[in-house]
Amino acid sequence: MPSLRYCPQCASTKFKQIDVKQWACEQCQFNYFHNMASTAGALLIFEDELLLVERAINPQKGYWDLPGGFIEYGESLEQGLQRELNEELGLELAAEKFVYFGSFANQYFYNQVLYHTCDSFFVYQLNNRVSLQARDDVAAWQWHSLKNIPFERVAFKSVKQGLTQLSQQNQNTIYK
Ligand SMILES: [Zn+2]
Repeated sequence: MPSLRYCPQCASTKFKQIDVKQWACEQCQFNYFHNMASTAGALLIFEDELLLVERAINPQKGYWDLPGGFIEYGESLEQGLQRELNEELGLELAAEKFVYFGSFANQYFYNQVLYHTCDSFFVYQLNNRVSLQARDDVAAWQWHSLKNIPFERVAFKSVKQGLTQLSQQNQNTIYK
C-alpha cells in the first residue's frame, strides 16, 4: 500500500496510518480500512487431470494459475467464480455444483498497491473435456496430470498451497 497523504474526505494532511490496514483523519475523524479482499479459484478436474491457466497480465504474467478472480460487491464466492469462469474461459457452470475445498491467504501486488487476499478454492468435477476459450486475463489453458503439477511455474503462494493439498488428497484417492 502506498502512503495515503491526504484525507479522501476533507483533503487534510492530518490523515495518519494507525496500523497495517487503518488510516484516520485527525481533522474530520474520517476512518479508512484497507481490508482483505476475497477471491475464488476453480479446481476444474476431469478424470485425473486439472485445468491450469496461464496468466496474461502481471503480477506473475506467464505463470500457471487457477481460473477465477476477485469477488465483486454483492456476489457470493460461488457466484463470483461462476462469472469469472465465463469471462476467462467461456464456461457456463452451475454455481451450486462447486464443492468448497479450502482457503489460503495471499498477497497480490497490482499497480503500486499491495492487496491482501483470502483465496477460496472450489472443486468442480467435469464429465467431459469441455470446450474452452482463453480470454480476458487468461493467455492460454492446459490440462495437467494431478501427479505432475508444474509447481515451479505456479503463480501464487496460495495456489501452490492449494495444489499441494490437492495432490496429497489425490494420492489418497479422493479425486479418482
Ligand atoms: Zn478528513
